[in-house]
Amino acid sequence: MVFWANEKPEDRSPDRRGPAAQQQLSGTLEDSYNELVKVKGHTPGIDLAIRLSDLILEHAVKERSSDVHIESQGANLRVRFRVDGILQDMINSPKNSDIPLTQRIRVLAGFDPEPPTSFRNEEGRFQKMLAGRAIQIRVSSFPTVNGEKLVLRVLDRQQLGLDLDQLGLDPEAKDIIKKAIRNPYGIFFITGSTGSGKTTSLYAMLKNINTPMINVLTLEDPVEYRLEGLNQAQISAKTGFTWAEGLRTILRQDPDVIMVGEIRDYESAEISLRAALTGHLLFTTIHTINAPSIIERLFEMGVPPFLIASSMLGAMSQRLVRKVCPHCSQKAAAPSDAVVNEFVKNMDPAEGKIVKELILKPGATYNVEKGCPECRNTGYMGRTGIFELMIMNEEIRKQVLDHAPTDLIKRTAVQTGQMKTLLMDGILKARTGVTTLAEVIRVTATMV
Ligand SMILES: [Zn+2]
Repeated sequence: MVFWANEKPEDRSPDRRGPAAQQQLSGTLEDSYNELVKVKGHTPGIDLAIRLSDLILEHAVKERSSDVHIESQGANLRVRFRVDGILQDMINSPKNSDIPLTQRIRVLAGFDPEPPTSFRNEEGRFQKMLAGRAIQIRVSSFPTVNGEKLVLRVLDRQQLGLDLDQLGLDPEAKDIIKKAIRNPYGIFFITGSTGSGKTTSLYAMLKNINTPMINVLTLEDPVEYRLEGLNQAQISAKTGFTWAEGLRTILRQDPDVIMVGEIRDYESAEISLRAALTGHLLFTTIHTINAPSIIERLFEMGVPPFLIASSMLGAMSQRLVRKVCPHCSQKAAAPSDAVVNEFVKNMDPAEGKIVKELILKPGATYNVEKGCPECRNTGYMGRTGIFELMIMNEEIRKQVLDHAPTDLIKRTAVQTGQMKTLLMDGILKARTGVTTLAEVIRVTATMV
């Protein structure tokens, strides 16, 4: 079954709110909700629910939210937005039983208006014109003891910088990637936690090399964005269209470039790496904490070292850091020598030395976050990527064949391949004033 078959026709219902209500976006969502509750008794409940769901979605797009959480918390209705990776309360007020908000969202998503009595996985999507453009909303329902929780993923193409120039790569890294992805064959890996922007990077790479002269096929779970000129397919375990089966099918489709959404088992790893050896260019993601540990992960899956050494072009690890708010950020000097020594004391000595030099480079100044109305007092606005780019070279290849541990491969990549770790790239970003050292350390804390 293809998930897109569930797609709802665009909701073209006229805006039922009067001009006064349409201007409410200038206030907070909480204010708008309280205004709506006061109208109670004058309008039928479903109309209020439509107005409230519209207001929530309009605010969500205006605030650049990636997800909207609609939660029942006992007697309260709680609506939270995820903005720049962090959840923020937007409504936390007494619930009004005359406003059937969840039923409204359920109907839009194609569910029955009432939640099922026994647990069932419910997923749906709809499209809506918001801020002048068609935006896809993917809905998931979860039965909590306090009532139904709905999460709405906002798929706004405009927020997706589908261009290698927009990811936040420094010029040198961008050139290296452009060269690597123009190899006629081989496999390139991307790793990063959920929400680290790896799908965006994969799409940006495919877009960068896609021409009518090549056949690009993708296997994804789910297909989040449909891109022109690509043949995208959706994995479905239910019908037996697994990663491995999908890959076998794709190889009979005369491919030049293959994107495999994720490699998570020996079978799909083995088929992918062999395809990369036989004249195909592959892109994929794999779940590890940094670029060098991809090799260890492939060893664990049972992939023989020679296959990795001969097919792997390189790997990139990434995270998203929040950009400091341009309206309120303040300049700060570099941290003291003692603070930096404490920070690097548990690192590999060679890596710690580089990190220390990067932070304390003479003349380096940093921005610190403050908070203002423009950034909802968070001190940050928008996000950009930080990257760790490891390109295969003779030294790394030799270590792969020797089954070397991740630490050794990482050190070799830094020393012989000019690899900058996520932390190093983040510090350089902080030095340019784009983000703060605190944010870089927060995001890379699990890396050191
Ligand atoms: Zn600000």
